Amino acid sequence: MKPVVKLDVAIVGGGIAGLWLLARLRERGYGAVLVESQQLGSGQTLCAQGIIHGGAKYSLHGSLSASAQAIAGMPTLWRRCLSGAGEVDLREARLLAEHQYLWATQAPTSRIAAFFASKLMQSRMEKVAADLPIVLQHPQFRGAVYRLDEPIIDVASVLAALAHRYRDALLFSPEPVIPAVDGSITLHHPDQSPLTLFPACLVFTAGAGNAKLPWAAQQLRPLHMVMARGANLPGPLYAHCLGASDTPRLTVTSHDDAQGRLIWFLGGGLAETGVQRNREEQIQFARQELTALLPWVNWNAVQLATFIVERAEAQQPGGVRPASFSLRREGRMITAWPTKLALAPLLAEQLEEQVRTLDVQPHPVDWCALAHWPRPDIAVSPWDRAELAWS
Ligand SMILES: Cc1cc2nc3c(=O)[nH]c(=O)nc-3n(C[C@H](O)[C@H](O)[C@H](O)COP(=O)(O)OP(=O)(O)OC[C@H]3O[C@@H](n4cnc5c(N)ncnc54)[C@H](O)[C@@H]3O)c2cc1C
Repeated sequence: MKPVVKLDVAIVGGGIAGLWLLARLRERGYGAVLVESQQLGSGQTLCAQGIIHGGAKYSLHGSLSASAQAIAGMPTLWRRCLSGAGEVDLREARLLAEHQYLWATQAPTSRIAAFFASKLMQSRMEKVAADLPIVLQHPQFRGAVYRLDEPIIDVASVLAALAHRYRDALLFSPEPVIPAVDGSITLHHPDQSPLTLFPACLVFTAGAGNAKLPWAAQQLRPLHMVMARGANLPGPLYAHCLGASDTPRLTVTSHDDAQGRLIWFLGGGLAETGVQRNREEQIQFARQELTALLPWVNWNAVQLATFIVERAEAQQPGGVRPASFSLRREGRMITAWPTKLALAPLLAEQLEEQVRTLDVQPHPVDWCALAHWPRPDIAVSPWDRAELAWS
C-alpha cells in the first residue's frame, strides 16, 4: 500500500506566490507543504526585476486606477518583512536599493505630465536634483529626475530566506504534479517509492503550470528581456525612463552575477515590444535605445544577452494586464496568480481567507513521513545561466 500523508494545505509551485503562502500558513500553525517540479523560482520569479511597485507604473494614464490602489501599500509591507517586523521574516533577504528613480526624456511626448495628474503619485514621488544615480550625473544629462517609493529586492535572497526557514515543508517531485479527482496528489522521484499527499485544500501557484488545470483559464504575455555587463557600465542604476506610452520606455535594475560583476537588467517597453524582434534584432535595438538615452556611455564596449519569458496571469477579456492578483476556486482546489511579485503578500492573505472558508483548521503534520523526501534546489538567476550567448 502506498504511504499517504494527511495535510491541511498542499501548495503546488515554488515561485514567490507559493513560498509566501507557505510561510504565512506555517506561521499560523497550518500543516502545509509545497511541491516543486523543477527548482524554486525557475518560472517567472527569478526573472523578476525585484521592484516592489508602489503604483507608479499603473498611474501613467493619470488616474488612480484599481491596480494602483491595490499595490500602493506594498513597499511598506515588504520593508516591514525585511526588518523582521512583518508577517513573514525576510531578515535574511537583501534590499538592493531603497528607491527606484524615474527620469523623463525632454521629448514633448513624455508621459511625465500624466504622473502629476495622479494624486496618488504626487504623494509618492519627489523631484531630486542632488544625489542622482552616477550615470545621470553626467553634464550632458538634461532630464528631470524623481525618486519613487519603490524598493528593489534581491529576489534570489528572498527565495533563499524562505526556502531556508521552511525547508522541512519543501518537496521535490521531478514530474509535474497533477491532482487526482479526490484532491490528492502523488509525488514521484526515481530514488523513492511514490508518496500520496491528501490535503484538505490544494492550492496551485504553478505560474504557467496552472494551465494544466482545466478550469484555470490563463493568458501568457511574453517579455524579451535584455542584460548588459562590462567594465563600461557606469555604476548601478534603478530607474524607469518615461517615453510616450503608458509603459516606461526602459526599466533598469542592477544586480551582481555569480562572479561579482555588475549586471544591468533591462525591461519595460524595450522588453514588451522586443517580442516582435529576434535575439540579434533585440540586441541591436537595445544598443540603439541605450545610446539614444545615455549617449555619453560607450555602449559598443558593453556585452548584451537576451531571453524570452512568459508572464502567466488569469485570463482577462482582450488579454489585458489584470488589475491585481487573481484566484479561482473549484471545490477544494484553488488556482492563484499574483500578477506581480510585489502582490504575493496580498494574494497569500486572500488564499488564507479561502482556506478558512473551506473550514480547514490548523493541524500538526507527520513530518517524520516526509523527512526522507528530496528537497528542491533554488534556480539560477538569468544572468548566470550557462546557455546564454553574450555579444
Ligand atoms: C521579466 C519579468 C520581470 C518582472 N519584474 C517584476 C518586478 O520587478 N516586480 C514585480 O512585482 N513583479 C515582476 N514580475 C512579475 C512576477 O515575476 C510574477 O508575477 C511572479 O514571479 C509570479 O510568481 P508565481 O509564484 O505565481 O509563479 P512562478 O514564479 O512562475 O512559479 C511557478 C513555479 O511552479 C512550478 N510548477 C509549474 N508547474 C508545476 C507542477 N505541475 N507541479 C509542481 N510545480 C510546478 C514551476 O517550476 C515554478 O517554479 C516580472 C515578471 C517577469 C517575467
